[in-house]
Amino acid sequence: MDVLPGIDPRAPLLDVTNLHVEFRTQYGVAKAVNGANFRLAPGETLAILGESGCGKSVTAQAIMGILDTPPGYVTQGEIRYRGVDLLKLTEEKRRKVRANRIAMIFQDALSSLNPVYTVGFQLGELFRKHRGMSRADAKKRSIDLLEQVKIPAARTRVDDYPHQFSGGMRQRVMIAMALALDPEVLIADEPTTALDVTVQAQIMGLLADLQQQRNMGLILITHDMGVVADVADRISVMYAGKVVEEAGIYDIYARPAHPYTKALLESIPRLDMKGQQLSVIQGLPPLLTDVPKGCAFNPRCRYARDACRQDPAPPAYAVAPNRTARCHFFREVIGE
Ligand code: SF4
Repeated sequence: MDVLPGIDPRAPLLDVTNLHVEFRTQYGVAKAVNGANFRLAPGETLAILGESGCGKSVTAQAIMGILDTPPGYVTQGEIRYRGVDLLKLTEEKRRKVRANRIAMIFQDALSSLNPVYTVGFQLGELFRKHRGMSRADAKKRSIDLLEQVKIPAARTRVDDYPHQFSGGMRQRVMIAMALALDPEVLIADEPTTALDVTVQAQIMGLLADLQQQRNMGLILITHDMGVVADVADRISVMYAGKVVEEAGIYDIYARPAHPYTKALLESIPRLDMKGQQLSVIQGLPPLLTDVPKGCAFNPRCRYARDACRQDPAPPAYAVAPNRTARCHFFREVIGE
């Protein structure tokens, strides 16, 4: 269905360039995203990783066009979907893109579903509203989708209310809703944070399977490097509103080039470290209204030296083809 005249199927699926987002608050201007760049191809999984407040969810909200304005504003940059800059579209067109082309799954499925309607009604409404289906066809399609996300006894569960589902099953319903209109891009914002570990693995496996079947581009937003290890193709690590390292999954795990990435990796619990103390990253991310001079990571960085405390902040150095790191001393970090 052509929801957006002017799209070029040969253009990159999603191309985010020099994205800046700021929040104008009574305490000052918080630069939540400060020049983010990344691309996403069909069938590719990009993980955006970092601690709370590093700008990853705000990046997703900017792509979706759901920033709270005020206080949030996109002040610079481009978000191109198949060649069309979404930031230049009218709100009506963005709504169409959101419904049909780029979908999002949120962390808290319970608050994202309407408690007074059955899941079948909520799913069916998407098909009735956007595809003009009859009530009976919409219900049939809703059952199909619930089966695709592996909800047992979908034919009967379609008439249940959200509170009658477990946390993991509710997240499956959310995935079904996000996929209902066959989006090309799916953004999953901490999709497994509220779930226990075994259910987390099932949901990640389900997302990976559905992505392959549909050849979707998937953006996974998470603070947990352990969660993305098996499913991501590329990782963008964010800190204080900037992408500080971007690389393929193998490079990031084998030889991180930024001290922040390295510290995140060291803080993942490992079975072969039984009895040893888990490594933590000392200190807290900076307030975005008061980011340190020079490299924003310098107060927490074990490699920091004088040059790191001076402006300008490190640029995105090319570590290798398709690999960047914002660290003056990336060669030392990577162990070259
Ligand atoms: Fe650490 Fe300096 Fe590299 Fe920043 S530029 S990450 S402070 S070594």
